[in-house]
Amino acid sequence: MTKNHSNLFAAFSIDGKVPKRTLLEAFADSGILEDDNRCAGMIKRLKCGPEDLNLEDFQRLQDYSPALFQQVLSGQLAIPQFKNFCKEIEEIFEKVSSNKSGKLADYIPQLQRVNPDKFSTSVCSIDGQQMSLGNSDDFFCVQSCSKPITYGLALEELGEEEVHKYVGTEPSGRTFNELALNTKGLPHNPMINAGAIMCGALIKPGAESADRFDYVMSKWKELAGGRKIGFDNAVYLSERQTADRNFALGYFMREKKAFPPSADLLDALDFYFQCCSIEANTTSLAVIAATLANGGNCPLTGVQVMRPDHVKDCLSLMSSCGMYDFSGEFAFKVGIPAKSGVSGAILLVVPNVAGLAVWSPRLDELGNSVRGVELCRQLVSRFKFHTFDSMIGLTDDRIDPRRNLYESRFGGITALCWAAYEDDVAEMRRLIAMGVDPTAHDYDRRTALHISASEGNLNALRYLLSLGVDINPLDRWGKTPLDDADMQSHPGAIAMLDEHGGIRRAVNVVKLV
Ligand code: GLN
Repeated sequence: MTKNHSNLFAAFSIDGKVPKRTLLEAFADSGILEDDNRCAGMIKRLKCGPEDLNLEDFQRLQDYSPALFQQVLSGQLAIPQFKNFCKEIEEIFEKVSSNKSGKLADYIPQLQRVNPDKFSTSVCSIDGQQMSLGNSDDFFCVQSCSKPITYGLALEELGEEEVHKYVGTEPSGRTFNELALNTKGLPHNPMINAGAIMCGALIKPGAESADRFDYVMSKWKELAGGRKIGFDNAVYLSERQTADRNFALGYFMREKKAFPPSADLLDALDFYFQCCSIEANTTSLAVIAATLANGGNCPLTGVQVMRPDHVKDCLSLMSSCGMYDFSGEFAFKVGIPAKSGVSGAILLVVPNVAGLAVWSPRLDELGNSVRGVELCRQLVSRFKFHTFDSMIGLTDDRIDPRRNLYESRFGGITALCWAAYEDDVAEMRRLIAMGVDPTAHDYDRRTALHISASEGNLNALRYLLSLGVDINPLDRWGKTPLDDADMQSHPGAIAMLDEHGGIRRAVNVVKLV
């Protein structure tokens, strides 16, 4: 047994035994679901096993999935405090729920008939921690959320250089189905209709359409790690029926000789309608988003579905073109690669952290889900999920769910107190430069100033005073730093604090001479 494993057993055991309830709770809190194939066998065994596990039972249990077992019990998953994270998401979901503005897409009856009040969101981390809220079991057609996947599959087939002989990488600045091509007579990018029709034409061009459909469905299923993916035939038939604009786009591109010679226009259009009609729920879409967030490797199965460089291309274009005519503002304000569809779905990818999906069918005038966009805004107001939030460092109070709060934020305070204890001004300066608040206190409301005063550390004291920190903070016993200096009889510190307006608050200062 390795050291790590014995640490695990020791951490969870009481009188030499680990209660099974503690383990079940740890798994439930971690967001790893009981039906997750990676641990289903282990959970089953745990449930029908003894109430308390001895070292041998414990060892046998972890043999099912040693890496995951270790990660869950030692809190090393992508979102370590998953329960807290879920609470925040629940609050956001609640807050956004009441927004009833916007209108259903009405260009096909199948979308017009959807219950407009439906609302769900799901999250899947790159380690496969999952949560869902609202109508997350309900299926909807993915519409334009299929575009990044179609583009990714075209890249898998032909590589970046070849694909971009047929489709550009610039935002179009026009609506998603505008009859417009770029100056080279090509679709502006793969995230609008013309570009998606083109990318579809690049996937297995010579193959039978049935085989192409099978292929794409199998890829969707792989991306979703076995979560259900369906197909809505009524949507497909309606899409085909009401597709004058898409036909016009297709003929326009053919007239400009934009298609590769092997492509068949009607096949390409048909394939596009099929992709829009693929069905998912937010649970499965979130896993797909998580696969993208994880560089193309599905967190639930470990299958590498797309190459990381192709995922990078997808995410780049989702960032600049994924939210229709709102893409620029979305990239600025929210800063998360995303793709929306007219069914009210939004696919969101927080690279190296998690995938999210939202579904709420009422749309704004640009075709984006109203509550979906609102939820995204709320997300970045609470979490450091904007691509460039990494610039801000610790000087920002929003949550970074990748990090354990006790270790990150509170760790900074502890480090500052230790540096003050050692009179190590260089280290204090470094911590403060990283964003640690010099006035922050620990659980006993002890600040770095209290510690410096208590130790008579004049360098640390001088440095903190030069920063203009509050000179008379009270710790949990009502003591000021000057009380500390008095108590420990440090004349230099007493003089310095006196000079800066330090006061005495403690009634019974016991001098330790
Ligand atoms: N299927 C519709 C079309 O092609 C809408 C796609 C979308 O979600 N923007 O026009």
